[in-house]
Amino acid sequence: MTAVDGGTEVQEELTQTQGLMAGKRGIVFGVANERSLAWYCSKALYEQGAELAFTYQGEALEKRIMPLAAKVKSPFVEMCDLGKDDQIDAVFQKLEKTWDSIDFIIHAVAFAHKEDLEGHFVDTSRAGFALALDVSAYTLTAVTKRALPLMKKGGTVTTLTYYGAEKVVPHYNVMGVAKAALEASVMYLASDLGEKNIRVNAISAGPVKTLAAMGIAGFRDMLKFVESKAPLKRNVEAAEVGKTALYLASDLSSGVTGETIHVDCGYSILGM
Ligand code: NAP
Repeated sequence: MTAVDGGTEVQEELTQTQGLMAGKRGIVFGVANERSLAWYCSKALYEQGAELAFTYQGEALEKRIMPLAAKVKSPFVEMCDLGKDDQIDAVFQKLEKTWDSIDFIIHAVAFAHKEDLEGHFVDTSRAGFALALDVSAYTLTAVTKRALPLMKKGGTVTTLTYYGAEKVVPHYNVMGVAKAALEASVMYLASDLGEKNIRVNAISAGPVKTLAAMGIAGFRDMLKFVESKAPLKRNVEAAEVGKTALYLASDLSSGVTGETIHVDCGYSILGM
């Protein structure tokens, strides 16, 4: 099995130990390829003993996700457009036949039209706004609701967000509004589900070169800017996002819910 890193093919071996996630099972939404943040989260969880289920959005992605899923010995890979309730229902019906319970969800899904991630926010169309908010924010609630019957002993829900929810970032536009809705959803879900021992948190990742990120106008400039300004004087690595997902999905974070944790080399603390 090979993985692409910085354009170079590298061998990647994953070793599983009976660690922090031993005996825990969960479903990951949003692995598009080996660069996806969801894949880095998956690897971190797998290496600590987790069992993983995956969904992918379209047939075109099947050939990318299948070898990755095989690498972590996943027993469950299904197509699911999270914009469609009937497809989410079908995935959870099938998941119930594979496992009688799950312990975690990783939600790493976002979408906006390319034209809404350039130019000015004021030009966002009604349809573009609705689509971005639906896929990038509402889907967290949609999958969490379906997972509740399976989270019999409690569980964790972790999503991915970005600083553009809090402050204006050029070209992030409607996605910033969607991420603000996502972060608010995290708090409301955490409040609803705490009594079921279900914790809901977000990771606010610094910019990482992925398929989705490359759709944002000026993304390469964003990487250079953060590298020059962030307290750690570098961009975050996708594996660091994965390690935080492990923290949030494991008992290490047992007292943490409703939180958005910045994993951004400190960029978000800066005022100037
Ligand atoms: P990515 O690899 O392109 O992942 C985005 C995923 O969302 C893809 O698997 C994509 O599938 C999926 N998706 C989009 N619309 C969907 C739908 N209707 N149903 C199901 N899946 C759908 O990019 P990524 O950067 O890892 O993004 C993961 C998450 O991290 C996103 O929420 C993103 O906003 C967030 N994030 C990223 C960064 C960054 O700099 N990369 C920083 C902070 C937060 P398709 O490829 O089929 O569309």
